[in-house]
Amino acid sequence: MSNENDEDDAAGEARRAAGADGAAARYGDYLHRLSKVPAPNAALAPAILPTSVYALPGTPAGPHQYGRWTNPGWTELEESLGFLEGGSAVVFPSGAAAVTALLASILRPGDRLLLQSDGYMGTRTIAQRYFAGQGIVVETCPTRDIALRPLDGLRLALLETPSNPGLDLLDIRDCARRVHASGGLLVIDNTLMTPLGQQPLDLGADASVYSDTKLINGHSDAVFGHVCSRRVELIAGVLEWRRVCGAIPGPFETWMVQRGLETLELRVARMQANALALAQALRGHPALRALCHPGLAEHPQHALATAQMMGYGSMLCLTLADQASADRFIGACRYLRACTSFGGVHSSAERRARWGDPVADGFVRIAVGCEPTEALCRELRRALDAPGP
Ligand SMILES: *Cc1c(COP(=O)(O)O)cnc(C)c1O
Repeated sequence: MSNENDEDDAAGEARRAAGADGAAARYGDYLHRLSKVPAPNAALAPAILPTSVYALPGTPAGPHQYGRWTNPGWTELEESLGFLEGGSAVVFPSGAAAVTALLASILRPGDRLLLQSDGYMGTRTIAQRYFAGQGIVVETCPTRDIALRPLDGLRLALLETPSNPGLDLLDIRDCARRVHASGGLLVIDNTLMTPLGQQPLDLGADASVYSDTKLINGHSDAVFGHVCSRRVELIAGVLEWRRVCGAIPGPFETWMVQRGLETLELRVARMQANALALAQALRGHPALRALCHPGLAEHPQHALATAQMMGYGSMLCLTLADQASADRFIGACRYLRACTSFGGVHSSAERRARWGDPVADGFVRIAVGCEPTEALCRELRRALDAPGP
């Protein structure tokens, strides 16, 4: 590589790590989108609106008639989430409920659904347990093989990129083109990247789906989800599913997610910068058998990550010698919470083999948080350096 390319790459990396691209650059617009609208003396912070009933005399009319159908807090949050992707959002009480709403409103008997065999396990469980028995054909394929596999004849491909915890990427534009060629739909589960790290709708996906439990709420204190799309019929379908079947979020959780969004850009920028700094700081450490992060030049899909994503995500995967070394490392590190899930302010880690993921016993997934970068790198390196028993 020439010096010039090195500099370009370094500058691009720094910019992306800081999240200064795309949606992140418009975050000021996002924060101030309502600043000029309210009447004088109106509260500028959103309200929590716990109600099951609305005043409804005579012939039912108007936007709010019953608590399962609408809540002004949902509408406000949906406008916020939609703004981040230039689409319409529908909120749900969990990511799993959002995924279920998509599957239930799109799929009919005889339809073929494609999922990754190394994608989010909960999504496969929903599809295999509740949809496969209804005459829907559920197909699975490893992320690495999707580029080589035909995508025609599908009604729906619901895919994640990067995959978790393998951190293999899919080219969203290419998948969209191949699924669309025979009239299918592509939905991207964008939980890992958020709209600030990746814009699936701009890349050709028909919808995106999120567990807002992770980065979007961001404080490890609420379970939530949403769907976003620019397709009117698709949004009407998931809205009708929610209205009829009642998978509705509580008003307090709705407010919490709205509040979490206020700092999303700040958190994502720090988390992504931390993940990249850690990857660079730990790379080559003698205790590691492998280290995986899309921001490293040696990641096999680094070029695709640079082109498709804004930043390289906040996940980092390490492989230590065995289960005991991995457990010892997690236990020894003061800055790693031992828990599952990801996307919170506190860095956390877990050995993924404990859930049966097809990874080595010593494989540790680190969900990088918002700690000060230098201190975090120092503490993780100290824990890796710690001698064994
Ligand atoms: C967590 C997660 C889900 C499920 O979301 P919940 O909020 O736990 O219901 C779906 N997809 C991905 C990628 C996730 O990480």
